[in-house]
Amino acid sequence: MIDVAIVGAGFAGLGAAVRLREAGVSNLVIFERANDLGGTWRDNVYPGCRCDVASNLYSFSFAPNPDWSNTYSYQPEIWRYLRDVAAANDLNDLIRYGHAVTDVAFDESTSLWRLTTSQGPVLARAVVLAVGALAEPRRPDIAGLDSFTGPVLHTASWDAAVEFCGRRVGVIGTGASAIQVVPHLAATAKRLSIFQRTPPWILPHEGHRVPARTRWLYRHLPGRQRLARLTYYLRRELLVLGFVKNPQRMSVGERQALDFLADQIPDPHLRARLTPTYRMGCKRVLLSNDYYPALRRDSVALITEPIERVVPEGIRSTDGAVHPLDVLVLATGFRVTDHPMGALVRGRAGATVGEALSGDLAHYLGTSFPGFPNLYMLAGPNTGLGHSSIIYMIESQLNYVVDAISTALTRRLLVEPTALAARHWTARVRDQLPSTIWATGCSSWYLTESGLNTTIWPDFTFRFRRATRGFRLRDHRLTPAGQGSVER
Ligand code: NAP
Repeated sequence: MIDVAIVGAGFAGLGAAVRLREAGVSNLVIFERANDLGGTWRDNVYPGCRCDVASNLYSFSFAPNPDWSNTYSYQPEIWRYLRDVAAANDLNDLIRYGHAVTDVAFDESTSLWRLTTSQGPVLARAVVLAVGALAEPRRPDIAGLDSFTGPVLHTASWDAAVEFCGRRVGVIGTGASAIQVVPHLAATAKRLSIFQRTPPWILPHEGHRVPARTRWLYRHLPGRQRLARLTYYLRRELLVLGFVKNPQRMSVGERQALDFLADQIPDPHLRARLTPTYRMGCKRVLLSNDYYPALRRDSVALITEPIERVVPEGIRSTDGAVHPLDVLVLATGFRVTDHPMGALVRGRAGATVGEALSGDLAHYLGTSFPGFPNLYMLAGPNTGLGHSSIIYMIESQLNYVVDAISTALTRRLLVEPTALAARHWTARVRDQLPSTIWATGCSSWYLTESGLNTTIWPDFTFRFRRATRGFRLRDHRLTPAGQGSVER
């Protein structure tokens, strides 16, 4: 039996292991379904994959990296960073690779969590779900998709063996992943057809190589890098004034994006089809200097006629045209509010964590749930961000999680938020949602099918940091493990 079972060896799982060990919890295991660590940064290996949050902030506060070669890193460097963090903190021996967790259930009679893994069952006193929000590729529900005769790839499960050079390639989607891969495909494909349902708002990318002297400075004067991190953090927090406090303010960014579009796309017909008709920020704002230029190539077509179905030789749009393709790329995002792991985690009364992701179960700090003693979810409901670094949110959650787990283990307790505390927290979050940018009428992966935002934290991130700074006894129900319950 183990003290803490961590599910997932991405940013969240590795961060949890470091922080728990620091707090003296050593009997812990990380279960990872794949054969390597890194989570979404291991899986998203499509050409051009890059983070749109600056690396000085998109990294652990306890593991700054003075050697980032670019202000906004590409996937290989972020993945390497995570492997370096694991090595520097001796985490590799804690990870059980090839262990897919298929069921997590609370056993009332033993006060333990029983995890079923692809390699057998495991018992644990506490569980940290670190499965990531952007982990399960979404395959779109498009008629005939299985009938396509060529290779079909999702951006998040790339197959480097597929040849694009000289072939007719189709890309479905124009989100963050698509705009990064399109310039690369456009450079080699014989013909590239991009199927756009909704045009994204795109701003110029400010990323650039980090000069050697800056890296030297970061290495020898770590305070200088901390200052750069803080400055960038504060700049990003200013966006909350538009995203949350007054969406009208986004008109400033919209003007900048429209000027950028006008500069990059001289053809007024193409420009009109690339012009968003919803408020900037409602969907994720994208950054790119090479997406629009790729669309200007003669070999690239932007198709805005809706897809009717996939046929064996390509895609038929609703105007009856068939777009012949040799390869089809799905840049169609992730299952976030219907993350498959949600249904596999069952608490006391048979409720599932999935109900919190779909908005039917109250959560506490986006991290714990009444009826799920000693179980915590990192990057859980309403902890995602449209403007800053999820790593900051995960580290905030860990302040609470580590405190709560240490208390539970040392005092042999089951700890869970009270129903009242969870209701209050969930209501606090939901009360703020209607006036935010994400409720201004677009569809996005932030929303459930019924239109509820269960994904984004609708406030300044320092407020979340304050709320999660420790374990508040009065918000929790403590039960001696294995005995009758005691309400505090
Ligand atoms: P996404 O933002 O969810 O975009 C999916 C795209 O597929 C959208 O354009 C969507 O159109 C389209 N789509 C989905 N189903 C479709 C269908 N049935 N028919 C036609 N089009 C369809 O996914 P993503 O681009 O993978 O990005 C997801 C998130 O991952 C990002 O928001 C970001 O948080 C993260 N990410 C970040 C980076 C980065 O740091 N730069 C890179 C990649 C991913 P609609 O807009 O009409 O729904």
